[in-house]
Amino acid sequence: MIKEMIHGLREMLIFLFLAIFSKATEVKAYTRGGLIQEGAAYCLSWRLAVEANNVRAWRTVPSQCLRYVETYMLGGQYERDLDLIVGQILSYVNEIAPSSDGMDAWILDVDDTCISNVLYYRGKRFGCDPYDPAGFKAWALKGGCPAIPSVLRLFSYLVQSGFKVFLVTGRDQETLGQVTIDNLHYEGFIGYNRLILRTAEFKGKSAVAYKSEIRRQIEEEGYRIWGNVGDQWSDLQGECLGNRTFKLPNPMYFVP
Ligand SMILES: [Mg+2]
Repeated sequence: MIKEMIHGLREMLIFLFLAIFSKATEVKAYTRGGLIQEGAAYCLSWRLAVEANNVRAWRTVPSQCLRYVETYMLGGQYERDLDLIVGQILSYVNEIAPSSDGMDAWILDVDDTCISNVLYYRGKRFGCDPYDPAGFKAWALKGGCPAIPSVLRLFSYLVQSGFKVFLVTGRDQETLGQVTIDNLHYEGFIGYNRLILRTAEFKGKSAVAYKSEIRRQIEEEGYRIWGNVGDQWSDLQGECLGNRTFKLPNPMYFVP
């Protein structure tokens, strides 16, 4: 009799234990899933705000968004976003009838527009680490930035269609001029009208002031700027912006 009671009690305890354990696991799993979802939702909001220029002058990617930005950059969504934007640009290009005077121009930025620094930023925790000028210069000096395929496609189409393409970059002419020319050439950016790098005259000037002045000079030469493409808002603000501007995604850094 006592033996049977002990057996029954033991079964009941095991049942109770299993019931409590499984419930606890369920709650924990739900909470963890919820937290992950909530974290990704915050990072999506943050990225959208950055791309829309509502968040400005940010120095680093929020550390809780490291995995999110990594997944965005390497998991395929970045390329999909670029493809969609380039598709829109190409539709616009096809609406333009270039004139025969050879003065129809486009402006393209270089870093993370024509060629990619994602491999470098992978070592900088996708922008969670602060900007490192010496580290970036050492990377750029290797001349190994790969082309961004959809932008290379756009570039080639513009050149073939008779547009004059100006590549305008904040890279220093003296130290990075030749390596940038070689990098672009090796990656297939052939046939552009001019590559314009930052000279001593523009040292210390903001990207907006420097690029505005360059575009003004281009317009003064008589060129009509039909489009202006860049991954930073500072590529697309200021004076002489062109008929249309196109912002490419970049959630890794902000250039003032
Ligand atoms: Mg850029």
